[in-house]
Amino acid sequence: MKILVCISSVPDTTSKINFTADHSAFDKNGIQFVINPLDEFALTKAVKLQESQGATVTVANVGGAETEAVIRKALAIGANDAIRINAEPKDSYSVAKEIAEVAKNGGYDLILCGKESLDYNGGAVPGMVAQILNQSFVNGCIGLEISGSEAKAVREIEGGKETVTVQLPAVIAGQKGLVEETELIIPNMRGIMSARTKPLQVVEPSAAEVKVEAVRFESVPPRAAVKLVAPDNIDELVRLLHEEAKVI
Ligand SMILES: Cc1cc2nc3c(=O)[nH]c(=O)nc-3n(C[C@H](O)[C@H](O)[C@H](O)COP(=O)(O)OP(=O)(O)OC[C@H]3O[C@@H](n4cnc5c(N)ncnc54)[C@H](O)[C@@H]3O)c2cc1C
Repeated sequence: MKILVCISSVPDTTSKINFTADHSAFDKNGIQFVINPLDEFALTKAVKLQESQGATVTVANVGGAETEAVIRKALAIGANDAIRINAEPKDSYSVAKEIAEVAKNGGYDLILCGKESLDYNGGAVPGMVAQILNQSFVNGCIGLEISGSEAKAVREIEGGKETVTVQLPAVIAGQKGLVEETELIIPNMRGIMSARTKPLQVVEPSAAEVKVEAVRFESVPPRAAVKLVAPDNIDELVRLLHEEAKVI
């Protein structure tokens, strides 16, 4: 079985996000990039399938050379090889189109993604990849079993869980629960050393059309200072809620 895991390189969740002075772009200065946390669940699941079913695991990223540190981490976690599609990700469609081009040539049985990137939060790429490849798509998976050419996936739905089956090849977008957080693989020294020599192929993009252009970014306004009111000072609390917060 051949598995392609799509990994997005995103700012570390503790990063302070700033935009350029003209508000036209995200300011990458001083930002530490990591594997999109939801993609780590997908990657760990793929490595488990590699161990249990002899699958080969390729990771793919659409990004510039600066994403290679993140790709090498995915190799250290256990992927066999990697493909970097040498393009700045500009919108969900062009990213999906580039991944689909690579997937078409690779003959993958299973494409695993995270259900959304934790920076731009599009939640769009995996479904688009499936549509372009005319494959089945299951979103938001919290469990996955592969048996022969069938995938059985568990999804979280309002008030419960849904189990679905699809024939491979298919695209599955996962989240926490695909594996448990405690199962996420932290690369050891051997993994880090072997990652240095694992194949990382750089392919040029197919110049997919960018359909959505970001024109302006704005930060959320800073939170107002908290005012503490003594528990016995109800009059002051009522006054503040009435005159300042204007909620009563
Ligand atoms: C440096 C940089 C510059 C950007 N500039 C712009 C810009 O100018 N205008 C703009 O609109 N947007 C920009 N983006 C955002 C870009 O649109 C998104 O990275 C891309 O569209 C996918 O985001 P998404 O939120 O739709 O992904 P989602 O659909 O939320 O991601 C779901 C899953 O798809 C896969 N995936 C997503 N992105 C990638 C990827 N790049 N490579 C491999 N797998 C992936 C992962 O498995 C991920 O978990 C930029 C992003 C970066 C990193």
